[in-house]
Amino acid sequence: MQQSGSASRELFHPVQTTGTYASVILPLALPKLYTYYVPEEWLDAARPGVRVEVQFGKRKIYAGLLREIHHRKPDHETKPLLSVLDEQPLVGERHLSFWEWIAEYYCCSLGEVMDAALPAPFKLSSRRKISLSPFFDRHFEELSEAAHLLVQALQIQKEVSIDEVRKILNRKTVGKVLQELFEKRLIYMSEEVKETYRPRMVRCVRLAEPYRSQPELLSEAFEQCARSLKQTEALMAFVQLSKQQQVIRCQEIYDRAGVNSAVLRALEKKGILELYEKQASRLGGYEEELVEVPEMSEQQQRALTAVEEAFGEKDVVLLHGVTGSGKTRLYVELIKKTLARGRQVLYLLPEVGLTTQIVQRLQQLFGDQVAVYHHRLNQNERVEMWRAVAEGQPVVLGARSALFLPFRELGLVIVDEEHDPSFKQHDPAPRYQGRDAAVYLAHLFGAKTLLGTATPSLESYYNARRGKYALVEMLERFGGVQLPEIQVVDAREELLLRKLKVHFTSTLLEEITQALEKGEQVILFRNRRGYAPILKCAVCGWQAGCKDCDVSLTYHKFQNRLQCHYCGHQEGVPTACPACGSAEVRLLGFGTEKIEDELKIYFPEANIQRMDFDAVRSRNAYVRIINDFEEKRIDILVGTQMVTKGLDFENVGLVGVMSADQILQFPHFRSAERGFQLMTQVAGRAGRKQKRGKVIIQAFRVDHPVLREVLDGDYQGFFQREIRERRAFQYPPFSRLIQLTLKHKDPQVLNNAMRQVAERLKAELGRRVLGPGIPPVGRIRGQYLLELLLKLEPRTPVLRHAKTLLLQTLREMQQTPGFTTVRAIVDVDPN
Ligand code: ADP
Ligand code: ZN
Ligand code: ZN
Repeated sequence: MQQSGSASRELFHPVQTTGTYASVILPLALPKLYTYYVPEEWLDAARPGVRVEVQFGKRKIYAGLLREIHHRKPDHETKPLLSVLDEQPLVGERHLSFWEWIAEYYCCSLGEVMDAALPAPFKLSSRRKISLSPFFDRHFEELSEAAHLLVQALQIQKEVSIDEVRKILNRKTVGKVLQELFEKRLIYMSEEVKETYRPRMVRCVRLAEPYRSQPELLSEAFEQCARSLKQTEALMAFVQLSKQQQVIRCQEIYDRAGVNSAVLRALEKKGILELYEKQASRLGGYEEELVEVPEMSEQQQRALTAVEEAFGEKDVVLLHGVTGSGKTRLYVELIKKTLARGRQVLYLLPEVGLTTQIVQRLQQLFGDQVAVYHHRLNQNERVEMWRAVAEGQPVVLGARSALFLPFRELGLVIVDEEHDPSFKQHDPAPRYQGRDAAVYLAHLFGAKTLLGTATPSLESYYNARRGKYALVEMLERFGGVQLPEIQVVDAREELLLRKLKVHFTSTLLEEITQALEKGEQVILFRNRRGYAPILKCAVCGWQAGCKDCDVSLTYHKFQNRLQCHYCGHQEGVPTACPACGSAEVRLLGFGTEKIEDELKIYFPEANIQRMDFDAVRSRNAYVRIINDFEEKRIDILVGTQMVTKGLDFENVGLVGVMSADQILQFPHFRSAERGFQLMTQVAGRAGRKQKRGKVIIQAFRVDHPVLREVLDGDYQGFFQREIRERRAFQYPPFSRLIQLTLKHKDPQVLNNAMRQVAERLKAELGRRVLGPGIPPVGRIRGQYLLELLLKLEPRTPVLRHAKTLLLQTLREMQQTPGFTTVRAIVDVDPN
């Protein structure tokens, strides 16, 4: 008690107000900004966009972001800014506006946006601990005195908190010192120590002296090794390479001269070459040779002209190009032109981890100009990336979080596969839709947005129809390749005729056989992983369910265990029914694992590989499978959604959709749209080069209109029918949805809290409030869930009013005794 009192006295200047105040965003879910007074010494440095150290709560120090400097004296006592951490604003004015838009539109706090936007090392808090990098070594002497001191301390104490750093350094502001050490990669925050951080080292080779400074002496060197053909060849390779590039990797010599490392070591011994290690940039520095861009097709030419003309009038263009039409080639052209104007390009993809092909293609064309930002980067790489973008990195390829990078002059944003649901962030807040946020960000920069897809989202296509966006189409595949022939097979009929082999219709089996005979590859799609989703007792009806969630457990054969797909809980498989003791426990339904198993029986000779969340635990596993498939080491690939995403394989003759019913019968207003997109996209993997491919869709209910539309490749028909339905039921784009979920471990408390909220909302919004009700999964991780949906007219004043009311109501609910621990989740424009 006494101690904390004296500590806080030490920490602060006596109140000597300068009349200048700073509103500060803290990286916490706080509803508002906090005001601090700016002491004399920081008056110059304090400006919007810089990080500042402030005290919040009793003893916590945070790095907050300064939003505004003003002279409005608050009516409460203010604490001082402790320090300013940045010389230049870390976040520019345009991005601050972007943050504000996200917070307001998606009903979250600016602190939550900040937390999502900034790499962790920028958000030091007194809770965080830091430790010394295991790779700490020679940078020692280049350190400032304070940093040196801290490093010495860290060599003795393994882990220290920021507060302890203050004591060690005997100063109150330590942000700069920590940043210095972060940037030199000498320290790590405790959360990431677990990450295997390893600088990427490549072995390189250069001339030894005197040859390096006097290349004319090289002929002597050649004489010296004249008796060894290998050495001569290696040296020749070196000379050739050094004409084109500064840095030469040993591997390049091995490849070019066909020699091994012993040869280079021999040359080193003779004092001709010198081997050294070089740290490669971890931003995906590209070292291979660049390739030329191929000519554009006539269709691509036309589309390019159309896009450029449309950008003259509209900020957003929707590019509707069928699968295989060569949208990427068009993007490349637009990227080149944007770079030529000296502006940056952001290329957004739904899941960068799953799109190695596109990354490779762009890197082959643009080399180091392309940097890739994905969620597997560690915190230090994120900081590096942040700096690179601020310094003008020309092209950034990334998932939605790349929107927050500090672009200087954004000229073009490409949203590839704009229809993909994974552009939407689910958890935690901000729950933003990356595509929509991209359009807004581009608008702030005066940049253009290109939305590209073969299956536009209903919202985007509707916007294009209304003239809000421009529409450009590419309706033919590149090179005149035909779109695949699609066939819907009636599984029920085959079942009646007893032709159905468990999960395969005879048609699909025949087609697989034929494709394999022709040496073609096959992709089978099933939107469910694991072996069987249900384990059920045939006698009493008992079903294996998760103890913490209201879902059935999926059987995974590989581990021989039951698994919950919501919380990850696992357990063993009972041999008898735990309820009645009967041994008749049966597996029902099927997932990718079971398909794989069955295939092995029908096609024992074939190479079969599975690609789903279980098979692809790491990015490496994913890349390996893709490579194996490309190299034709896999005959049949069975997978979940992963196989639908933007893959471009030459040799796929057949694509099979195992069950269309599960996709289309899902009770959700978007299920038809998702079904159309999913099936069209997966079908698009077939026959991309030369030959026409084939697609088999198995269904028990073959009369669903979407099946017909997929069959005919009829996007127009699909759109017309679906938009009528949306209008009739007032679903988006004719309304906006806001979904509220309340969670609590006690169902009674939850019920009461929801009742209070629903009553208050209904009093003002009337029939715009739907529910409350129990969601499809009513309990997750021991927490009960209740849901409520607001269906609102798509007009800004209505939406504003509803959001304000909703947040107000939730605050009141959470202040009601008994309800303080009820968690509320607001999802604007839910998927
Ligand atoms: P999309 O993304 O529209 O489905 P892609 O961009 O993947 O289509 O292109 C389909 C295939 O056609 C790819 O293999 C690509 O290399 C090839 N292709 C596209 N445009 C050209 C071009 N102008 N010259 C040569 N090949 C092209
Ligand atoms: Zn039983
Ligand atoms: Zn569970």
